[in-house]
Amino acid sequence: MLITGLSLILACTAFVIYELASFKSTLTREMVSLANIIGANSTAPLEFNDSEAGNETLKGLEADNRILKAVIYTNDNKIFSSYARTNKLNQEIPHRHPPEGDSVQEGFLNLVQPIFLDKRKIGVIYLQVDLKEMTARIWKYGAILTSVLFLSILVAYLMSSRLEQWVSQPILNLIETVDRVSITKDFSLRAKKESDDEIGFLVERFNDMLIQIEEKNSALQTAHDELEDRVEERTIEFRQAKEEAQKSNHAKSEFLANMSHELRTPMNSILGFSQLLQMDSANPLKDYQQKNLNSIASAGSHLLELINEVLDLSRIESGNMGISIEAVDLLLIVDNVLSITQPMASKNDITLKYEEIPANSIFLEVDALRFKQVVLNLVSNAIKYNKPNGSVFISYKQLGTGKLQLGVQDTGNGIPKDKIENIFKPFDRLGLEGGSIEGTGIGLTISKKLIEMMNGTIGFTSNPGEGSFFFIEVPISNTSPSSPEQIEKLSSSNETFSNHDKTKKVLYIDDIPINLNLVEKYLSHFSNLEFIPASNALDGIEIAKTQLPDLILMDIHMPDMDGLTAFKKLKSIKETQEIPIIAVTADAMDKNIKKALNMGFKDYITKPIDLKNFLISINKAIN
Ligand code: ADP
Repeated sequence: MLITGLSLILACTAFVIYELASFKSTLTREMVSLANIIGANSTAPLEFNDSEAGNETLKGLEADNRILKAVIYTNDNKIFSSYARTNKLNQEIPHRHPPEGDSVQEGFLNLVQPIFLDKRKIGVIYLQVDLKEMTARIWKYGAILTSVLFLSILVAYLMSSRLEQWVSQPILNLIETVDRVSITKDFSLRAKKESDDEIGFLVERFNDMLIQIEEKNSALQTAHDELEDRVEERTIEFRQAKEEAQKSNHAKSEFLANMSHELRTPMNSILGFSQLLQMDSANPLKDYQQKNLNSIASAGSHLLELINEVLDLSRIESGNMGISIEAVDLLLIVDNVLSITQPMASKNDITLKYEEIPANSIFLEVDALRFKQVVLNLVSNAIKYNKPNGSVFISYKQLGTGKLQLGVQDTGNGIPKDKIENIFKPFDRLGLEGGSIEGTGIGLTISKKLIEMMNGTIGFTSNPGEGSFFFIEVPISNTSPSSPEQIEKLSSSNETFSNHDKTKKVLYIDDIPINLNLVEKYLSHFSNLEFIPASNALDGIEIAKTQLPDLILMDIHMPDMDGLTAFKKLKSIKETQEIPIIAVTADAMDKNIKKALNMGFKDYITKPIDLKNFLISINKAIN
């Protein structure tokens, strides 16, 4: 509206200005030619100084009522002849003419023109023209333009209000719907279609878009709901499966614990009595008996190794293998492994070589016992699978990754290329099953898992016919270890049972007579030890109260009362509470060992009893 009005005003003003300018220029042109004609007619009167004739010439202007005054001046600017439309005007005739040319003043056009005769100026003619006509025109134009302007604005207003109804309103409605949808996120809202024109089309498309979004939204919601249901279902299934797995895992652990217990008990007798027979210097065995006994002992040890390894594997797989990572002196481990494997190497005619390292120079971030187990596995394999008169070389390399590589190189037959990928698979002996070299096929499986639990890696390279290089890479520690404890932990030292001046009483409580018998035989070698047997827990407690032994050896699984309860009872009785108690049991489960040691048992000896360790433990407890 405003723009329309302004345009109209501008257009009209331009038109009026143009009209007035053109009117004035036409009038001026007309008056100039009139002045020229009058001038030409006045040359004779001027030449002959006949002002009357001049007056007569001017009188001819009466016919044009626009001319108010007409005056002819002589060259020296004196009135020669004059004409005025009225008497009043006659009195206003100027005595001297205005400057030549034309000018508009107070509603009049003043025109002054020279009069020439033969190119010689002989006078001047002055005309005063009334511009009333032009003023009247201005007013007329003004009135017409105002009416046109008013009418145009009225029409524009009427049209714009109609247009607003047709165009703006539907667009405003559409915008409002868009706003509501974007604020409420309610895609079921629709814009109202009011016409079949472009705007109606726009509204229709917008509604179509809303329909599509709504459909997609609802499909998405359905999929989301379905997914949630499915996730819930799966979670329930997963939980059930997990519970099942935990149950069966628990059952497996129980089974393994029982199996291990059941197997260890007879193994205790087999290995124990074999050791006793080997130790009995008073009644030496004949050669063939010694040989047979060695076979029994070796088969027994193999069986025990198998039990221990299967148990280890099952502990690792069920997540029950606890490891304690600490700073460990590498030299301690290697020394320990060398002392164990040296006899085996000598027996197999293998030279055991190693890179020298100073004590306290390299510390590793590992579990001392489990790391030793892995190194032992690699070195004994290197000896077992070597050629006669071969060699084994243990080397070390510090890697840039903050790890140390311990390598074991042998000169054996190497590993066939087609068997390489099976080497860490449990129970796979790469075709050596049933051969003369003893083994279980799970040593490397366990080693790999243990090394990974210690944040390390294990690997090998092998040239068939030339030998293999097995290596482990484990983190180096920046702190130094508490060595004395580790030495104790690692050593299967050669300490022997010290003789005491005073006789010490050892009470052994176990429900299996053959176990009592075996330990009695062990201890009979020491004249200053008095062995007191008890075949059940309650008897054992009574005997402890009356005989006050220096040490109690306690079985854990007994029918009348388990060893842990018996331990608590003994610790609650004033007379017996200071007596050291060692657990002697076929239960080798880690968690049970930990539990007993936490309760206050001095030591935990697993069956089959390793005589050396057993005696060291008794010696320590009594002192
Ligand atoms: P085990 O030695 O008890 O059989 P391991 O898991 O330690 O079990 O080794 C798996 C198999 O890998 C062995 O049976 C043997 O065939 C092969 N092996 C291991 N170490 C070597 C080696 N240094 N040289 C050749 N073969 C080896």
